[in-house]
Amino acid sequence: MERLTPVEQRAPGRWQIGTVTAIKRETPRVKSFRIALPMWMEHLPGQHYDVRLTAPDGYVAQRSYSIASSPLDVGEIELTIDRLEDGEVSPYFHDILVEGDQIEVRGPFTSYFVWRGEHPVMLVGGGSGVVPLMAMLRHRRRTMPELPMRLLYSVRSAEDLIYADELGEDAVLTFTRDPPADWSGHRGRLDEELIAQSAGSLTSGIAFVCGTNGFVESATGLLLDSGFEPQRIRTERFGPTGQL
Ligand SMILES: Cc1cc2nc3c(=O)[nH]c(=O)nc-3n(C[C@H](O)[C@H](O)[C@H](O)COP(=O)(O)OP(=O)(O)OC[C@H]3O[C@@H](n4cnc5c(N)ncnc54)[C@H](O)[C@@H]3O)c2cc1C
Repeated sequence: MERLTPVEQRAPGRWQIGTVTAIKRETPRVKSFRIALPMWMEHLPGQHYDVRLTAPDGYVAQRSYSIASSPLDVGEIELTIDRLEDGEVSPYFHDILVEGDQIEVRGPFTSYFVWRGEHPVMLVGGGSGVVPLMAMLRHRRRTMPELPMRLLYSVRSAEDLIYADELGEDAVLTFTRDPPADWSGHRGRLDEELIAQSAGSLTSGIAFVCGTNGFVESATGLLLDSGFEPQRIRTERFGPTGQL
């Protein structure tokens, strides 16, 4: 039988069976899942896990999901998943999985899209692209609340706002379709003025951008125009071009 050292047992890349401990509805299309892991290991905000579903006939579907939680949440991770109508994996999470169920995951995976405490920090997220940025914001609020970090979050309508109860003064919102009735802030897609206003003096720092391909491309262009150094803009793309 294969013998593993404690470090090898915890190495990312090893599949493990997690248990869903809590499910929270964030929006009509998005839910957050807290998953307890027997081989949990500390992640860096921005990293992701892979999830694997295996059908009785052996068919396997595997997808990546960013970690939404702070690494201070020892023993568990939170994944926040947008339900795609014709998807294979995201509808399983939404329609089938209940608290107490088990799910196969592996991670956390390293990427250059991680926040290691550099500052100041500008976060720009579109739709579910806010998920890894929330891990950064949550971690900063718990460890270094004085550190300059701002989230610019583009979302379709008021009902699509993920983490609505946690978006504080360090978050700036824009609604591309239907803002709340009493909304006096920005409407429409990101533009130069909104980026410049929300970035302020943060342009000397690092930026993280996450969303669909189209969102990431336009946001990155605007950040460059507003003065961010190209090598200090880190991007993560979640999937095909979509409407935000
Ligand atoms: C590093 C990384 C991190 C990710 N983190 C998250 C996360 O935190 N939360 C989250 O909800 N998703 C995240 N994703 C996207 C996720 O991996 C899946 O692609 C998504 O859930 C769709 O999977 P599915 O099986 O439901 O749909 P699929 O069966 O793969 O696709 C169904 C249909 O939707 C289209 N589609 C696939 N992905 C997207 C998309 N992202 N946007 C619009 N249309 C799409 C496909 O072209 C297809 O037509 C991440 C992706 C990457 C690469």
